[in-house]
Amino acid sequence: MKVTSIRGFNDILPDEGRVWRHIEDEARRIFDVYGFSEIRLPVLEKTELFSRTIGETTDIVEKQMYTFTDRHGDSVTLRPEGTAPAVRAYIEHRLYTAPVTRLFYTGPMFRYERPQKGRYRQFYQIGAEILGEESPMVDAEALHMLAALFRNLDIRGVEIEVNSLGCPVCRPSYREALTGFLEDKRDRLCANCRRRIDKNPLRALDCKARGCIEATQDAPSVLDYLCAGCKGHFEGLKAGLDRMGVEYRVNPRMVRGLDYYTRTTFEVTAYTGGALGAQNAIAAGGRYDDLVRELGGPETPCFGFAIGMERLAMLVDRSAVPERPLVFFIPMGGEAGRMSIGMISDLRQRGLRVVADHRGASLKSSMKRADRMRAGFVIILGEDEMKEGAVTVKQMETGAQERLPYDVVADWIRERIPGRPQ
Ligand code: ATP
Ligand code: MG
Repeated sequence: MKVTSIRGFNDILPDEGRVWRHIEDEARRIFDVYGFSEIRLPVLEKTELFSRTIGETTDIVEKQMYTFTDRHGDSVTLRPEGTAPAVRAYIEHRLYTAPVTRLFYTGPMFRYERPQKGRYRQFYQIGAEILGEESPMVDAEALHMLAALFRNLDIRGVEIEVNSLGCPVCRPSYREALTGFLEDKRDRLCANCRRRIDKNPLRALDCKARGCIEATQDAPSVLDYLCAGCKGHFEGLKAGLDRMGVEYRVNPRMVRGLDYYTRTTFEVTAYTGGALGAQNAIAAGGRYDDLVRELGGPETPCFGFAIGMERLAMLVDRSAVPERPLVFFIPMGGEAGRMSIGMISDLRQRGLRVVADHRGASLKSSMKRADRMRAGFVIILGEDEMKEGAVTVKQMETGAQERLPYDVVADWIRERIPGRPQ
């Protein structure tokens, strides 16, 4: 019986895993210097956590959640995003007793979408949340951090778009204006947007349907409706970005697919060379100043974002990802096999990545295997070597080969490994 994986649920194979690891290492290093600490959150949450925060009339809640009743009869949902769970944990564990909390997380998210390149049903995000800071400098700093990460990963054509969605003070007047505008264009909107005009008119600006994009071309701009506080915040964000040297573009149409955003929203796209089609957004996020209070916590202004791992990984140059070379150890014959045990464990203790060929095959066959395993180095322990307390070591790429006393071979190899000290 052959069982395959579920559509939209991917295996991340070792070659790809290496790229992911590189991204995560880089993210961890950068997030750390910006003061973030890691939080590990469950993948399953009570359904109401998402339906109440993301919004009942969003695509995610209306049609993308993996929701089921567990054996006890409770409605649970595989998390479609990480912000609501992070906020839930923040409140549950009273992390707000600290003045500011900076968290990051990595892990799978689940959305029932149409699988295609760059869009899956289980996908991974690296997310970060800053809880307890109102200043737009924090928004700017988070974007500065993202820009640094993408620069370090050599991602090409990175563009940051920012917008402000206002707050409960000013958004109602914008909503009203937008609703009026959409009513006039009702016939040209898709059924989904038509249905949502009253409940969630902003969704029409995010709709990917051609008709909706065209019909909303001249829609009123949210930026013209901001109250003084939101306007000041947005100006502060732009000034902060300028001061930090972060390039960005203002896009007043960007509304994002979750209802909890207030004020700043942003999206980062990259040049994908057509490889990802419309799926070129590699990170997105914004401010959610009311979410903590809405979930029963104290008044806490927050900013957060999430990076899409699969999309980002696709854009990372494979050749720039450091790979620890494999040392392939070939003992020739039974006695050498026995002697090699201690040597191999010694090499591993010195931090080298070692695999041995214990088949007792011919040298030719073992060398072939070393090639197929893409070994960086081969160590041969034959009879002559054993007599001398030596080994023969070969660097596969250059062909350089030497017979060396056993105790210097680890250093010989290390000297030939490029990059960071191993
Ligand atoms: P999109 O507009 O591409 O649907 P989104 O606005 O739904 O993205 P967010 O919920 O803000 O995305 O998630 C942040 C990032 O997570 C996205 O920019 C993207 O890189 C990634 N992402 C979102 N949904 C998926 C998915 N189904 N498969 C793979 N990556 C995804
Ligand atoms: Mg989406």
